[in-house]
Amino acid sequence: MSTSFKRSSFLSLFFLFLFCFPGKAAVQELKQYSAAIHVHSTFSNGEHEVLELARFAKERNIDVLVLTDSFLTSVTYGIWPFDRIGIRGINKRVRLGVRDYGVGRYFEAVREAQRQFPDVVILPGVEVTPHYYWTGWPWTGLKLYAFDHHFLVLGLTEQQIENLPVIGNETWDNTEKRWTLILVPLVLFLAGILLLYLGSQEKIQVGKDTAVRMRRAWALGIAIMLFALLLAWNNYPFGKFGDPYSGRPDTVPAQGVIDYVRNQDGILYWSYPEAVYPDVLMGGGTMVSEPHSEDLLLTDGYHGFEGIYGNRITATRPGQVWDQILLRYIEGWRMTAPRVTTGIDFHYFKDPGGSWYDLNGGQTILLMAEKSEAAVLEALRKGSGYATFQEPAEGLRLYDFSVETLDGAKALQGGEVEGQSPVQVHIHLDWVKDPPANNQPFQLELVRNGEVVLKVKQFLPIEFTTTEELSSGPHYFRMRAAWPRKIYDVLSNPIFVNVP
Ligand SMILES: [Zn+2]
Repeated sequence: MSTSFKRSSFLSLFFLFLFCFPGKAAVQELKQYSAAIHVHSTFSNGEHEVLELARFAKERNIDVLVLTDSFLTSVTYGIWPFDRIGIRGINKRVRLGVRDYGVGRYFEAVREAQRQFPDVVILPGVEVTPHYYWTGWPWTGLKLYAFDHHFLVLGLTEQQIENLPVIGNETWDNTEKRWTLILVPLVLFLAGILLLYLGSQEKIQVGKDTAVRMRRAWALGIAIMLFALLLAWNNYPFGKFGDPYSGRPDTVPAQGVIDYVRNQDGILYWSYPEAVYPDVLMGGGTMVSEPHSEDLLLTDGYHGFEGIYGNRITATRPGQVWDQILLRYIEGWRMTAPRVTTGIDFHYFKDPGGSWYDLNGGQTILLMAEKSEAAVLEALRKGSGYATFQEPAEGLRLYDFSVETLDGAKALQGGEVEGQSPVQVHIHLDWVKDPPANNQPFQLELVRNGEVVLKVKQFLPIEFTTTEELSSGPHYFRMRAAWPRKIYDVLSNPIFVNVP
């Protein structure tokens, strides 16, 4: 009795110890899962139904399918004071978005696909434009800017998506009321009534009788009342997100969306911050597209951005925008440090068998203990994993990228660790199966606090441990390995190290 009591109490203490100090054991249990992030279905301008996409993902061994159909695809141009009724609209009939088809239907389609393909975690995200602005005039040529500055938003409920505080989605519930927008039409309406009343006061003496004659003020009163009603209709719901007529970029509305999503515990990534499309002529004007990686610097609180996608990107180069932000973060000037994913912006199989138009060429690898929706959201929140592009797919794995302090504390990508210097950085990159026929050496760069501290150029496998002496204070490491022409590309998330 007494021995068995002792043994069981010893065992429970032992398990308690295990739970309190998961340490390396927990780190090792994380598996690598592939995610196709930024995929469009027929709920915006993608070619395939949600169900088909789920089947394609399953056929390609993709573990996670992140749908990001466009939320709103139309813009409005109006002339003051009827700035929101819109004399020109772009896109309205050309294509529709999730809001047009219904957020409920979108979620239902995803639930149905999830039922049929339980092996693939399918997330209903949306791609949103927080703000846009116009320059020029209808008669000289309108230009539309910033309509291509997009967020990918995940992890929200139907209702939270419906209430997204983005331009064009102003509702009674999601806007703060601007009293001028209410008062001006109200005062005008009352003025109209007053004019009617005054108009009815004109009395004319006809012989012995008194007649009442309508004056011009009557017509004016009616006109003013109609104008006031029209203005009220234009101003409804009496609040708005940003001014599309300021003629200049504005990140305040974008920050508003970031704060909204964060407050709802959702996830938000900036999508392709440097994508440049040719100017697009549309119904009402020209849509102009410009790189906007400064948005990454000017906003805070978002979870990350697309670090690999189908265009040239400079923000992830050593010392550039991403490193500037990460440095500001470790120095305590920023709330969050952005993570990276691969954004495939998949719409259809343009070129089957290769490149960006395949569903599995650009993969985000997530480190997770299990394959579940909650685990995916957590991995994206923390940046547990890395962005990669590979052709053919499933060619490469970053089997290890971790930092271990002198006293044995360890962190993986997206993680933070505190411990003594010097620290050891472990890297292990290899082909999953055989190298491709056109095999080439990889160029690998290890970046510490925005500076390249180690360069390696060799054929895979690359496997080594390097010892780094760190001063006391905060640091971070990240790495990239790629072929010169980036047919194979691996971009890690940062690992944060604090030396007391
Ligand atoms: Zn997209």
